[in-house]
Amino acid sequence: MSNHISVSLVLKQPGDMEMRQVERPAVGEREVLVKVSACGICGTDRHIYHGTYPASLPVSIGHEFAGFIEEVGIGVKQATVGDFVSVNPNIWCGRCSPCLEGNPHLCQSMHALGVDLNGGLSEYCIVPEQLLYKMSPETDPLKACLAEPVSCVLHGLDRLQVKAGYRGAVFGGGFIGQLMLQAMRLQGASEVYLIEPQEHKRQVAEKLGFNTIDPVNEKQKLVELSELDVTVDCAGAGDVLMQCIRATKRGGDILLFAAYPQGKAVSIEPFEVFRKELRVIGSFTYPDTQVRAIRMIESGQFSLDPIISEITLEETADLLEGKLDHKVLKGVVRLP
Ligand SMILES: [Zn+2]
Ligand SMILES: [Zn+2]
Repeated sequence: MSNHISVSLVLKQPGDMEMRQVERPAVGEREVLVKVSACGICGTDRHIYHGTYPASLPVSIGHEFAGFIEEVGIGVKQATVGDFVSVNPNIWCGRCSPCLEGNPHLCQSMHALGVDLNGGLSEYCIVPEQLLYKMSPETDPLKACLAEPVSCVLHGLDRLQVKAGYRGAVFGGGFIGQLMLQAMRLQGASEVYLIEPQEHKRQVAEKLGFNTIDPVNEKQKLVELSELDVTVDCAGAGDVLMQCIRATKRGGDILLFAAYPQGKAVSIEPFEVFRKELRVIGSFTYPDTQVRAIRMIESGQFSLDPIISEITLEETADLLEGKLDHKVLKGVVRLP
C-alpha cells in the first residue's frame, strides 16, 4: 500500500456504510491534515446513519475526534506539525445575526465536520485552523476526543441559573446523562439523582456514588422526587419532560438537553410551568466551553473509564444499528 492511500469509513446513503481506500486529502491554505487517533460515536451519528438528521451524503461521519497534525497549509499560523489537537466540528459564518450577537453556535449557515464535510471516522481529516484546540499529547486519545461532548454538557449547565449546593436530577443514563451527572457534581451540586429504567446504566452511576431511581419499578420514589432546583432531560423519550416539570421546584430550571427526533411532539401540563414559574431551557452545541472541557479532561476530573468502550472501525455500523447497546454506553473508535 502506498503511503498516500488511507482508510475512510464513508456513509454513502442512510444505512449504507463502506470502508474505502482513499487518497490522502490535500490541505488548503488555512487548513491542517490531522491523523485521527480516536473518534467518539454519538446519538447524532446514529440519526445521520438512519437518515433522521440532515447531512450531506456521501460523507465520512464522526464529529468527536482528536489526533496529531501531520501537515499544515501555507497560511496556517497557530498550529504546528506534531501538535496533538481536539476539534470543534462546527464551522460558523461569522456574519449572520446570531454570529454577530455572540452566539456563533446558532449560526444560520452552520456547517459541521462529520455532517456536511468529512469527519473523524477516517485515518486522515482536513480541519480548518480555527477549529483546532491544542491538547497535552499525554492525554489518552480515547478521552481527548470527548472534548466535544463534554463542551456541550458544560454549555448546557452554563445556561442554568444554579448556585453551589443545588439539588438536581438527570433523566436518562446514557453517556450524555452520565457526563451530565458528573458535571453537576463537579459544579457544586449537593445531591444529584439519576432516573433510568435500565439496570446496567443505573449501576454505573451508583458505583460513582449517585442516587438512582428506576422509573418503572420505583414509581413511588419518582412521585416523591420533588422540589429540585434543576432537572435535566437527557432521555428525549416518553413522558420525561412532564416528569421534569413535576420534580422541579417553584422558580426552578429544566434543561432540555436530549435531541428529540425532529417533528416529535410530547404532551405537558402548561399550568404547572405557569404556576411554578419554571424555565424550560434548550441547549445546542456550544460557543466557548472547549478550553474548559479540555482542562477538565486532561486533569482527570471526569470518571470516563466506566462510561466508554473502545470499538474498532469495523464495529461502527453495528454500534450505529444498536446491536451493541446492551453493553456499550459510548463507543469510541481507535483509528489504525
Ligand atoms: Zn456528538
Ligand atoms: Zn453565522
